[in-house]
Amino acid sequence: MSFRLTPVLTATWGTDRSWTIDAYHQAGGYQALRKALAMSPDAVLQLVKDSGLRGRGGAGFPTGMKWGFIPQGDGKPHYLVVNADESEPGTCKDIPLLMATPHTLIEGAIIASYAIRAHQAFIYIRGEVVHVIRRLLRAVEEARAAGYLGRDILGSGFDLDITVHIGAGAYICGEETALLESLEGYRGQPRLRPPFPATAGLYGCPTVINNVETIASVPAIVRGGVEWYRSMGTEKSPGFKIFSLSGHVARPGQYEAPLGITLRELLDAAGGMREGHELKFWTPGGSSTPLFTAEHLDVPLDFEGPPQHGSMLGTTALQIFDETTCVVRAVKRWCEFYAHESCGKCTPCREGTFWYAQIFDRLEKGLGTAEDIETLLDLSDNILGRAFCALGDGATSPVTSSIQYFRDEYIAHYEQGGCPFDPVASTVFA
Ligand code: NAD
Repeated sequence: MSFRLTPVLTATWGTDRSWTIDAYHQAGGYQALRKALAMSPDAVLQLVKDSGLRGRGGAGFPTGMKWGFIPQGDGKPHYLVVNADESEPGTCKDIPLLMATPHTLIEGAIIASYAIRAHQAFIYIRGEVVHVIRRLLRAVEEARAAGYLGRDILGSGFDLDITVHIGAGAYICGEETALLESLEGYRGQPRLRPPFPATAGLYGCPTVINNVETIASVPAIVRGGVEWYRSMGTEKSPGFKIFSLSGHVARPGQYEAPLGITLRELLDAAGGMREGHELKFWTPGGSSTPLFTAEHLDVPLDFEGPPQHGSMLGTTALQIFDETTCVVRAVKRWCEFYAHESCGKCTPCREGTFWYAQIFDRLEKGLGTAEDIETLLDLSDNILGRAFCALGDGATSPVTSSIQYFRDEYIAHYEQGGCPFDPVASTVFA
């Protein structure tokens, strides 16, 4: 059976020492950089605009447009910051990419910096992934030794250095302005937007912040061209994307496919649900996107499809749950994560996620009441659109969508004195 898979970023994953510069060269690596440096920065920017590449961090903002916001001739330094602080629950695409082919990101970062006329780039990576940090640092050294970083890169007159900055493991530091605060040495908390980083970012200077997968997609676009890139995906969401399947599937892992593919097709590629079980619910893009159920198997997974069905594409972290999972318990775990990770700057997120966690705890212990569902919805109303950054809004998604689709399961928790999936809890607290 053939599946609509399009391995581009993942093409060499699993091959012998794919992370080394030698293996990358053999696969055609750094050819795109040569091609880009022979073009003008504006021509590279136009190419990325024409490709229709959209941000892979979750929001899908058009990448070329973002680069185009960087003012030119302003006399200020420009910066490229790569967001490698992947933290959204279920999201696991950037870390394997950095382990398998770190040079794809480095080549993309050099091309992007050239296009926006930046001479210093930063890769902000979460501190827990020590093995990835080591590999990335080694790759940056290899690139420098090969003459791809430093002064007068490949005789083009373009200078660039890349600094790998290691974060300390806070979810909020994946939010772009909190990341900038952290990079500047302050506590990682979001800044008010606007101004957006493109006009006032790192040290108040014009800054492009892009996700790892976004920047890593650029070399392939420069090499393959706009027409090739647009031959994949949909008109408004062109190209390929890494979909991360985890949970109750036969073969969890990374599946690179054109945008617009459906979960039904991805499940076919992944061998289906684990044997003897049925799909109950899933997240299209991490826990901050509203849940989907089996009725959404054919929703096109691009930047338009999930929003038309009340969700979002997000980080394409498809967490798949079968009928053995208690949805209330799954949402409880996510709420505990949000309560722990809330940076505390704004009241709706700080207090709201704290109360989410309290209510879910008592529901699971069989101490819930009929009022709890309404209180959860009321709390969600008071977070959504009132939090300082998108992370507060995201916390409400699993709560409201799970009540929408599985209200009966919430009711069962207080009517049956605990989790109906857990006979021990139900008898202890009944
Ligand atoms: P956003 O839509 O506000 O912004 C997206 C990008 O576009 C940002 O870089 C922003 O600076 C830029 N932008 C938007 N409007 C602009 C304008 N008028 N001028 C200049 N630039 C502009 O989204 P966000 O708040 O940055 O991020 C939310 C997303 O983050 C969610 O979709 C979620 O899926 C995702 N997320 C990802 C992770 C992860 O681990 N990858 C973790 C949490 C959340």
